[in-house]
Formats: sequence, C-alpha cells, structure tokens
Amino acid sequence: MHVAIAGGGIGGMTLALALLDAGIEDVDIYESAPTVQEVGLGINFQSHAVRELTELDLLDDLLEVGIPIAELALYSKHGQRIWSEPRGLAAGYRWPQVSIHRGQLLGLLYRAVLARLGPSRVHTGHHLARFGQQDGAVWGEFADRATGTSVARVESDLLVGCDGIHSVVRRTLYPQEDPPHWNGITMWRGVTVAKPFLSGRTTIMAGHFERRIVVYPISKHHEDQGRALINWVAMFKTAAGQPMPRQDWNQTVRREEVLGPFASFVFDFLDVPALIRGAETIYQYPMVDREPLPTWDFGRVTLLGDAAHPMYPLAGNGGSQAIVDARTLARELALQPTLEAAVAAYDAVRRPVTAAVVLTSRQGGLGPILDLVEERAPAGFTNLDDVISQPELEAIADTFNRTTGADRERLNNQPSLSVR
Ligand SMILES: Cc1cc2nc3c(=O)[nH]c(=O)nc-3n(C[C@H](O)[C@H](O)[C@H](O)COP(=O)(O)OP(=O)(O)OC[C@H]3O[C@@H](n4cnc5c(N)ncnc54)[C@H](O)[C@@H]3O)c2cc1C
Repeated sequence: MHVAIAGGGIGGMTLALALLDAGIEDVDIYESAPTVQEVGLGINFQSHAVRELTELDLLDDLLEVGIPIAELALYSKHGQRIWSEPRGLAAGYRWPQVSIHRGQLLGLLYRAVLARLGPSRVHTGHHLARFGQQDGAVWGEFADRATGTSVARVESDLLVGCDGIHSVVRRTLYPQEDPPHWNGITMWRGVTVAKPFLSGRTTIMAGHFERRIVVYPISKHHEDQGRALINWVAMFKTAAGQPMPRQDWNQTVRREEVLGPFASFVFDFLDVPALIRGAETIYQYPMVDREPLPTWDFGRVTLLGDAAHPMYPLAGNGGSQAIVDARTLARELALQPTLEAAVAAYDAVRRPVTAAVVLTSRQGGLGPILDLVEERAPAGFTNLDDVISQPELEAIADTFNRTTGADRERLNNQPSLSVR
C-alpha cells in the first residue's frame, strides 16, 4: 500500500512514523515549504499525545529538549490563585505532559523520519495543487509554490491531507465551506529567557477569556542552566469592527500594542510586562477554528490534524489531537480488511472526539473558571470560597479533561494503539 502524505508538519511527520511502526513502509511525505523549517514558538503536549510519542520510541528525544509540566494553575487578573492541579506524572498519568518549542519538536520528528524511512521519502518544495480519484487509485499533482510550476504527479492508494488549517485537500472536498471563523481574540506570542517561576514546571493561565495570558517553560537546556525559556501567549479581544490579523504564523506585531492591555499583570511570582519587554520578537495570530465536518471519509482520501479539525490552540489540543489521529489511522490501516474500511473506521473513531474538542475549546478550555471569578469578583476576593465553590471548580476541570481525552483513569487503562 502506498500512502501519500500532503504536509510535513507535526501531524504528517507523526503519521509517517506511525505507519512505519504499524508495518506500512511505502510512505512519502510531500511538504509545500522548500525546507523543513524548525519554526514556531511553544506548544504543549498532553499525556495522551506523549503516550503515542512514547510508543513510537520518541520519549527520550522529547525529554532531552522539552519540559515535563507538573502543575497547571489559574490566577485572576490580580494574580490571585483560583485553581491548581497536578499534571502529567505528578497527577498519576503514566506519561508526562511535555511543553516544548514547536520547531524543535518538528525537528526531532523529522530526524526520526529521515533515520527510519530514509531521506528519499521526504519531498520538500512539493505543494499539493490538486488531486482526484480514478480506477481504484488516487493521484496528486504537486507544484513549486513560489513559481506554480508543476514538479510531480504521484499515484497512491491513499492520500492523507495533513496540510494544516489552509488545507487544499479540505478545500477540494468541501469547496463551499466558509473561511475559518475568528472569535475576535488576537493571540500575541513570544518567548523570553527569565528566572524560573513557581515550581519551574508550572503552566499558568491568568486573567479571563477576553484578556488573559498563558505562560509555561519550554526548554530543558535553559532549565539545566538554572534559567527558563518562557513561552507566553497573551490573548486579547480587540474592539468590535477591528480587522482580523492575517492567519500567518510568522506575522509580527509591535511590542507597545501588546504591553498596553497587560500593563497591570504584575504578580509577585511573575512580571508579565517584563516578559513582553524581554521577547526578541512578538508574533500575532487570530484565534480561529472551523465547524466540525460531517465526514472525513472520502474513500482513498482523508484528512488529519488541523486540516481535519482546526481548533483554538488551548491546552495544546491542536498538536495533541493530530498525534492521536495519526496513530489511530495507522492502526486502522494495519488491522482493517480493506483500505476503505480503515478510512471509515478512522473517521468513526476520531471525528466525533475531535468535534467535541473543537466545541469545548470555544468555551475556552478551563477558561470558564476564570470568567466566573471575573464576573463575580472583578475587584478581587478575600475568600475564594465566597466566589466559587470547590465542587464547581472540579466540575469544570473534569468536563474539560474528559472531553479532550486527558481523563487519567481512562488513559492509563486504555489499550495501546500499537499493532506490533
Ligand atoms: C509555521 C507554523 C508555526 C506554528 N507555530 C505554532 C506554535 O508556536 N504554537 C502552536 O501551538 N501551534 C503552532 N502551529 C500550529 C500547530 O503546529 C498545529 O496546530 C498542530 O501541530 C497540528 O499540526 P498539523 O500537522 O495538522 O498542522 P501544521 O503544523 O500546520 O502543518 C501543516 C503542514 O502542511 C504544509 N502544507 C500546507 N499546505 C500544503 C500543501 N498544499 N501541500 C503540501 N504541504 C502543505 C505546511 O507547510 C505545514 O508544514 C504552527 C503551525 C505552522 C505551520
């Protein structure tokens, strides 16, 4: 069986490794960019995704670079602690939760692909332009994106669209679909070298839905030197009528624009304006997603990762869900009697789960906790119990963890997706 993967991002690279692990060796990755660039900032992988990377023998590589997160803590905009929970191994999961630089993660997946499948299997400068199905096969035409010149026409048994939020595969399958939907929030993103804060392995979220910041460390190298490379995402709802920032991960923004809304976020454990001032470059990206699709099952063509279910990047779900998709598709292809049955089974298993994550993420993950506190005590509180009860806090956190697949008991006892 020949599998053509369109897109060499996190989903595409993981799919290639998962297919090989499941005994499917005839796999090629076609990546639009002229090289595999280690770009991006921080990204966070939940224990359920780290489990899959562990089973692909990548845990040591991951922990050589990233940070196993031990705690998640929520704070009001005044820096008052509202909620905290252990994460990863500290919470009793059998696999850590890891935060890491996206580019470094992509680099380690790419090196594993080169070592295990061979360099001839990665075709950079191959932008999928069009495809079709004919006589029990699927063809794809690839072009040099800069010039539009055709570079290859490839026939395969299966084409998997791992081509991200602007997926050509999805657009071809759903030509009438509306553009990604923006909720009015702009994400300003940066990394800053600073003193470690709290446990040194804590992720914090502070503020409320329309003005909040998520901060976590991402580098073992810096931790080994007693410092922290801190990834931060400041999310701010701009006034109605403002244009949406371009959906371009490399678009930068002026520091002053970011400093204004977060000037008061100076806490005893973390100085957010100092983080913003300390970042070399600040990027901006709109918080966008798309409606869940009615099917990803198109016979010899399917979708995976952001192409299948673009979602708000909350709690690392974009990357984590792409990794679980990849392992599930590889398993079904190895075990089902026909390719068509495998694609149908993958669609049946993964589509409803990821649709639920898309919809829950619209509520802001654990954000409702922050919003309730902001609504009930905008000037701060003396006793948290007067504002929100422990059972109320636990109910919101449990619902989010269950929906995203991060339910500890279920994950710890779930059989492996490996077919070896
Ligand atoms: C440049 C970049 C930087 C990012 N930075 C961050 C970050 O800092 N933090 C974060 O949480 N998330 C980031 N993301 C998003 C994150 O990687 C994804 O949400 C998540 O990992 C899901 O991965 P994916 O493989 O589905 O999509 P992506 O990681 O977006 O990968 C899609 C890949 O497909 C390629 N591609 C696109 N169109 C075609 C085509 N027609 N033919 C062939 N190849 C194509 C793209 O070049 C890209 O390599 C970034 C994505 C990109 C592309």
